[in-house]
Formats: sequence, structure tokens, C-alpha cells
Amino acid sequence: MLLLDHGDRFELCVDCIESGFSSVMIDGSHLPYEENVALTKKVVEFAHQFDVTVEGELGVLAGIEDEVSAAHHTYTQPEEVEDFVAKTGVDSLAISIGTSHGAFKFKPGEDPKIRLDILTEIEKRIPGFPIVLHGSSSVPQELVKMINEHGGKMKDAIGISEDQLRLAAKSAVCKINIDSDGRLAMTAAIRKVFDEKPEEFDPRKYLGPARDALKKLYAHKINNVLGSDGKA
Ligand SMILES: [Zn+2]
Repeated sequence: MLLLDHGDRFELCVDCIESGFSSVMIDGSHLPYEENVALTKKVVEFAHQFDVTVEGELGVLAGIEDEVSAAHHTYTQPEEVEDFVAKTGVDSLAISIGTSHGAFKFKPGEDPKIRLDILTEIEKRIPGFPIVLHGSSSVPQELVKMINEHGGKMKDAIGISEDQLRLAAKSAVCKINIDSDGRLAMTAAIRKVFDEKPEEFDPRKYLGPARDALKKLYAHKINNVLGSDGKA
């Protein structure tokens, strides 16, 4: 399973499909609605000839990922969803309901809430249709602390609570993208080795622990948060 995340051009999707990707995302969410529809439809028509599935996006997430960045959430409008899915033929749809890309989503003291009411409204309009949430890292405070204790300088930040994600995972949400938490887990593990054993220079000795930390993190997410164990 190989997925292109946030493809921004038709040509990029074509390249990935021709190189054997099993799924591509075309993110036209920053475009005017009709242009998003047209671009997504074009990718779907090409991809489906090769049995490659396509994820589209409606609504814009706050935060930064790769070259995609936005200062504020633009929530997905439930009334557009049905039309978008029908016109484009997408296989899954990423929506914007308050999650956010990156590790610096919200400041401590904020109480970030996913707009589950929008999710419910969307589910009513396209029952059972696979929904995707991006930007769903929780920014575990013990990892931020570990990084900073071992020479790091991460500013205070919090993410989406795992309780909020558990609620979303019970709905038609079929994929929840979590990237920053994995970056934090690997960075914390590597920093710890470098700090405690400054003489170490064998990558196996720090990349090994980093990989173990990543496995542990995702095992926790799969079993305790997403409820996706055995559902692939
Ligand atoms: Zn994303």
C-alpha cells in the first residue's frame, strides 16, 4: 500500500499512478469549488482505469504540511459534500472539522475540539462514505518534554486529544492521518541516545531505538485510539 498524500497537480498523480502507487490524494481544497471538482474528477477518471483509489479534500485545514499551509480552518460545508462526491467519483474524502497539520496546532490552555456536529451532518448526507481526517496528531506532552530534556528546544504546543479522536473514529471516518506524533517519538528517542551517549556514532544505535519508539507509538494509536486493529 503506497499512498500519495496531498497531490496538488494532475501530472503528479499521473506520475505516481504510473509508478505503482495504490492510492493518490488530490488536494484541490485551496481552489475555488468548481475548480476543485474539475481537477479531482480528472484525477479520478485517470486513476480508476488502473484500479487506483482517489482521496479528495473539501475544506481547508489550518497548519503547515509540506507546501500546504493555511492560517485558519475553513470548515467543510456539509451541503457541498454530496455534490462533490457525486460529481467527482472520489473514493474517500478528507474534511476540515478542526484538526490541524503540524506539531504547533494549538497553544497550551486552548481546548481544541473537533467539530463532531459537522461530521454528523456530513454522515447524514453521504451515509457510510469513507471520510478522512488529516492533522490528527495529539502532540504527547511526554515526548515534547523528553525532547527538551535532551537538548531540544520545542516550544509549547498541544494537539487534538486522543478522546476526541476516539469519538471521531467511531463514525464513518476510515482514515486518521497522524504524522507529527511519529516525528516527535523518533526525535525524542534519537536525542536521548545522543545526550546520554555523546560518543555514539553508529546510526544503528540511534535509528534502532527511534524505530522502536515509532512502532510503540503507532501500536498505541491503533489499539487504544483509532480502534483499527485487524480492520485493514
Ligand atoms: Zn494532510
